[in-house]
Amino acid sequence: MIITKKKDITEITENLKEADAKSVFLFGCDSCAEQCKTGGKTELAEMTETLTKAGFTVTGSALPSETCYNQLIKKEYRTNEDASLADATVVLACGAGVKNIADVAASTGNGTQVTIPALDSHFLSSVDRVGRFFEGCSLCGECVLDKTAGICPHTDCPKSMLNGPCGGVDHGKCEVIRENDCAWVRIYGRLKTQGRLDLMKKITPPKDHSRTTHPRKLLLR
Ligand code: SF4
Ligand code: SF4
Repeated sequence: MIITKKKDITEITENLKEADAKSVFLFGCDSCAEQCKTGGKTELAEMTETLTKAGFTVTGSALPSETCYNQLIKKEYRTNEDASLADATVVLACGAGVKNIADVAASTGNGTQVTIPALDSHFLSSVDRVGRFFEGCSLCGECVLDKTAGICPHTDCPKSMLNGPCGGVDHGKCEVIRENDCAWVRIYGRLKTQGRLDLMKKITPPKDHSRTTHPRKLLLR
């Protein structure tokens, strides 16, 4: 799941004014943003009320099941004039959703519609339970969890130490985020339980950062 947080509303209204937008269509996302309580039905209703009070004409809203899915957005633009004719869209979704809507807007109509993000995208998370999100993977493109008992040294260690722990570990706690247990102490504990402590002696080579050159893509067809 992609974790998003709400931008300050002033930033959004200033961006709309700067774009000289009078009419606005809203997009939420019924997937990650809905679960983060940043882009579901409730947040669309709140944004409609806030922008209306600020003097904008909100012509409507849509809540695609996945706003990052290009075909769903194209269909919305094909079938909903309120979406395609608005001066601007305000998008309550992650950056992939915002980019997707901007791409569709640029390729339909006269291409003048402006796309304004309402959220900041933060991290890829696993979900502990509803409303509790923890980053577990930084999408490095070269997974080493087989050697680290499923705990990511790239993500769970603030220094991304591939061969840890660092010299700062203090009574099992991380020197950077002191409330956290050191990721490498946790890795050690799990490997010990699994009878695989020999892995602690193996040196993991530096990551091949060319694998994460942006923009990345995956083409299955
Ligand atoms: S090593 Fe960590 S950041 Fe890299 S793919 Fe595996 S979980 Fe993700
Ligand atoms: S104390 Fe542990 S988790 Fe914290 S930076 Fe050092 S190795 Fe990483």
